[in-house]
Amino acid sequence: MIVILKQNAGQTQVQQLIKDFEAQDLTIHFSQGANTTILGLVGDTAHLDMEKILTNDIVRDVRRISEPYKAASRSFHPQDTIVEVSGVKIGEGTFTVIAGPCSVESQQQMETVAASVKASGAAFLRGGAFKPRTSPYSFQGLEDEGIRLLLAAKKATGLPIVTEIMSETQLDEFADVDVIQVGARNMQNFRLLKELGHCDKPILLKRGLANTIEELLMSAEYILAGGNEKVILCERGIRTFETCIRNNLDISAIPVLKKQSHLPVIVDPSHAAGNTWLIEPLARAALAAGADGLMIEVHNNPKAALCDGAQSLDLPQFAAIMDDIKKRVAFEGKQLQ
Ligand code: PEP
Ligand code: MN
Repeated sequence: MIVILKQNAGQTQVQQLIKDFEAQDLTIHFSQGANTTILGLVGDTAHLDMEKILTNDIVRDVRRISEPYKAASRSFHPQDTIVEVSGVKIGEGTFTVIAGPCSVESQQQMETVAASVKASGAAFLRGGAFKPRTSPYSFQGLEDEGIRLLLAAKKATGLPIVTEIMSETQLDEFADVDVIQVGARNMQNFRLLKELGHCDKPILLKRGLANTIEELLMSAEYILAGGNEKVILCERGIRTFETCIRNNLDISAIPVLKKQSHLPVIVDPSHAAGNTWLIEPLARAALAAGADGLMIEVHNNPKAALCDGAQSLDLPQFAAIMDDIKKRVAFEGKQLQ
């Protein structure tokens, strides 16, 4: 980190500032130019609050040279992290598809969808038991019963399951869940992230609707810093001024995340698109841009879905997309899981 001082900075104040930094285990490189005095801070600067440093009267500007996240950063962990769940890999060199309905609705629905997405090539079954809905009057999910139905579908098909947690108080109920999803709306629920840092389950962390890539990595850092190294990042579209689509899938986020971090990156084209016809081009784009997998909403009867029906593929549509994806995955030299 570099701290640029004001021209009129007094010696006493400068010495005091240097002492303050040294007291935080940092080494200071002092550089006095004709017009500018610069302090180069060497050491673990991740904990430093740039805004606070800026409040010092003699400081003109503060700039970070290295990322504020460490555990999530590729600089500190050059090799790719591959998360493995019941023999299924998520990460570089592989391509993993997670599919299933937005919300778990019934036993018959889960049995039908699970068997079909498995036959089409999905490696994980998804389904929301606890749903974060914009309206309190919308279907909120089957809750505990939803988890039970997911586990029954897992038992019937062998597909590991992914489902969303809303609060750290639910961790006991998620004991048999294979991958815990943190939804876009909870990406910065720091208490939840801290608790997930202490559990040994893989966490699928979705990017918030209005969060930067750096903020997503800082949220991953909360989980990693707690000791849980199994974090999977998920780009699911962000809010922009565009109204033609539900959210704007940030394709750039894929290569940027892969460059900045060693964590696997999967893409959810469903919540970005908001409709079915856009899923296929977005899925292709995600694969081409280097994503390690996809999460797609699939329903046996989308018209009757209790949540996100407009963006849910029916079973034959998902099968057709998988046929296309399989060829492209092989072309990319990746291993479909
Ligand atoms: C979901 O996956 O069903 C979901 C609610 O997604 P998001 O958090 O990305 O909106
Ligand atoms: Mn949904």
